[in-house]
Amino acid sequence: MDLLIKNGLLVSAGGRSNADIGILEGKIARISDSIPEQECIRVLDATDCIVTPGGVDPHVHLTPPTREEGGWKWVDDFDSGTETALAGGVTSVGNISFPERGESIRTAIDVDGAEASKLARADFFLHPVLLEPNDENLREIPALHAEGHTSIKFFLSFRRFDRQVDSYLKAMRSVGSSGGIALIHCEDAAIMECCCNLLRESGDLSAEHYPHSRPVHAEAVATRRAIAFSETTDCPVYIVHLASGEALRACTEGRARSIKTFVETRPLYLHLTEEKYKEEGGARYAGAPPLRSKEDVFRLWAGLSFGDVDTIATDHAPWMLADKLDSKRDATTLLPGVAELETNMPMLFSSGVLEGKITLEKFVALTSTNAAKLFGLYPRKGSLSIGADADLVVWDPNEVRTIDSMKTKTRCDYSPYEGWLVKGWPRYTVSRGELVAQGSEVMGEPGRGKLILRGPHQSL
Ligand SMILES: [Zn+2]
Repeated sequence: MDLLIKNGLLVSAGGRSNADIGILEGKIARISDSIPEQECIRVLDATDCIVTPGGVDPHVHLTPPTREEGGWKWVDDFDSGTETALAGGVTSVGNISFPERGESIRTAIDVDGAEASKLARADFFLHPVLLEPNDENLREIPALHAEGHTSIKFFLSFRRFDRQVDSYLKAMRSVGSSGGIALIHCEDAAIMECCCNLLRESGDLSAEHYPHSRPVHAEAVATRRAIAFSETTDCPVYIVHLASGEALRACTEGRARSIKTFVETRPLYLHLTEEKYKEEGGARYAGAPPLRSKEDVFRLWAGLSFGDVDTIATDHAPWMLADKLDSKRDATTLLPGVAELETNMPMLFSSGVLEGKITLEKFVALTSTNAAKLFGLYPRKGSLSIGADADLVVWDPNEVRTIDSMKTKTRCDYSPYEGWLVKGWPRYTVSRGELVAQGSEVMGEPGRGKLILRGPHQSL
């Protein structure tokens, strides 16, 4: 064996056992109650630790939405973004890849794939964004699926959606029949536009009013619509960053009718409420959708434990604090997105597992296995089975750290959770058998990450 992880508590989405894991040539080769150390080149001690599959975060932004000068640029790229991912126990990331205006979805994959191959320290997969459901892109959907890109993303929050909804439905039929899944941003564009106009007319433009620019009903109606699209086209839908109890209710009702609806939420909505926007500098917490009420937070946590929410992804899309707080911006133009890749899994471990809201097995399902299945990576990723990629995290459940943006690997200069005490952190992170992070020190180098070509969407 090349590597032995000894004396840990192995936890998968389906159960747990005390066992050793032997790794050979990047794969899990042996799982046994005791593997002799002398048979192994290197040994990592996992006594009193928990061993899980590496995190699979299917929703990150490590490439900008446009390469145009002056366009939006998040502060992390595949280099710093996957460095911060590895430090936080995430060994695979799914990037949202935008084409430029007029470019095809294939070009988006090619451009981002080339960039990531140079920079990524963790394995990656790519979801092309369908901005134009034109003939060229409709032709590319089955071809890209056959090549292992088995997902597509689009935004109900963009005005362009309603102008060509019939073509988007054609695209969904193609994604569904090709074995893929559609990631959908569910906020209604026209409602949000109207809400922004109302705010401008009333002059209520401070960050405190941000939630009124993107209200719960804009999210809920778009979510219901996405589920109806799935019902019509038979395309599985993955509702990204679901934020409200009302939108979750739409999903559970759809699921009760056997519509292929899957639900992602993200850490912002589990740990913070809209009260944050009233603070000095509250714009730092802006995400889209906005933070919601205490009741919504409660309903999302209940959804995690009862199985109504399938994944927790970060939607990692950070900005520097000065840009978030830029005084030229108002409640209708705040920059959405924060840094979460390094803190997501530890914070869920701390406030979910250690506080008894979710089990360890559920923690693995939410952060790794479910995403691996939905996006066609399973069982190569998201699993502790023999033959799987040896992507593993050894968790020290007793390590306490204070979140300090000066110490995290992201280029972002603040965290929405600055100063929070978090218990339970990765001691070792292993990617394809290679020790890529030890504590917060990352050894995985840029360029070692590989493009993951995927199989079809698997249901849960
Ligand atoms: Zn996103």
